[in-house]
Amino acid sequence: MTDPNTTVIEGRRADTGRRVRLAASGGIIASMEETESSGAEASGPDELWIAPGFVDLQINGYGGEDINLTGADMRRRVETVKRLVRLVLASGTTSFCPTVITASFEQMRDCMAAIRLACEQDELTASAVVGIHMEGPYISGENGPRGAHPAEHVRDPDWDEFNAWQEASGGRIRLVTLAPERQGAAEFIRKLTEAGIVASIGHTAADHEHIAAATEAGARMSTHLGNGAHPQLPRHPHYIWSQLAEDRLAASVICDGHHLHSSVVNVMHKVKGDALLLVSDAVHLAGLPPGTYRTHVGGQVELQSSGRLHMVENPNLLAGAAVSLADCVGRFAQMTGSPLAAAVAMATDRPARLLDCTGIGTLGVGQAADAVTFRWNAEAGKLDVQAVYKRGRLVGPERHGDCVSDTRA
Ligand SMILES: [Zn+2]
Repeated sequence: MTDPNTTVIEGRRADTGRRVRLAASGGIIASMEETESSGAEASGPDELWIAPGFVDLQINGYGGEDINLTGADMRRRVETVKRLVRLVLASGTTSFCPTVITASFEQMRDCMAAIRLACEQDELTASAVVGIHMEGPYISGENGPRGAHPAEHVRDPDWDEFNAWQEASGGRIRLVTLAPERQGAAEFIRKLTEAGIVASIGHTAADHEHIAAATEAGARMSTHLGNGAHPQLPRHPHYIWSQLAEDRLAASVICDGHHLHSSVVNVMHKVKGDALLLVSDAVHLAGLPPGTYRTHVGGQVELQSSGRLHMVENPNLLAGAAVSLADCVGRFAQMTGSPLAAAVAMATDRPARLLDCTGIGTLGVGQAADAVTFRWNAEAGKLDVQAVYKRGRLVGPERHGDCVSDTRA
């Protein structure tokens, strides 16, 4: 007899190729057994794959909800975070870092506080938010490296200011993106590292020496390497080479098919190997139907069915990333010819390990019952999410596949 509190999930494991049936109970994987044949045969397009829920270190918004929304009272901010969590979960990402970007002290404090309150009030939010990614304000002020971060708010690192934000967040800031060339950056990175917070190099115009100093001080990652950069650089040396050459730096990439050319993704993959990981860097328009949208910062933008988001006035200018991490996994596998297992690891196990998150990012007995099932079209690079489970509970997608039976959803 089946325990009514048990969820049974079946599929072919993306990592091992084995078909399994796992039972989730109490939010964890209670058992996992192999079913029928061992997966040596080729799989067809109807094969249902199973992987750990995706782990995204960089999400600014999704489905119309924006972590960094301005001019809202705290109640609206908190509700926004809770809605965002549900939309992100439905996309296949079961753990993520809401990303708070460069703004005034007060705006960033309110964003941090809203995430804390949402986590305190809502169990689902608390289990999905594995930490806050603070991207800026200690970044380059130069056009190009600064990206879309507002110039008037970029500044040098300030440990007291950071601590005020960390307090507002309830200690949830786990990842900080900053530019090593800012005054006091190396010392700041040292303090972050001592506090167990991952320092990541990004939105930078640093020279080689500054990147070396940041790494020496404890920086462990490059944030969306290759983006947030000058449109033109001296052929060598420059900050992208310096970060590629540094083995102590992992690197995240936005592999949405628009932010990096496939040749660049391939080079980064060859150089970084297991230290490469995927992030969506999704903005609030991600996950919405194609069309033209008006944004509060960038004027009119067009979202295409491919997930390309650009300015209407200048289609060459991207206006942010607008696909899910599941989409990035598919595109990465297609671009690099990587096995599905490798692409999935870059969006599950890798990011979880970078943040020292135990219990997520892999499938195993005793691990969190965070899982996604999907169909896989290798030729098209298309990963089609069929069901998403968070702690054993069905949380998406809205359009349910034919393989799901969970009456509690
Ligand atoms: Zn960025």
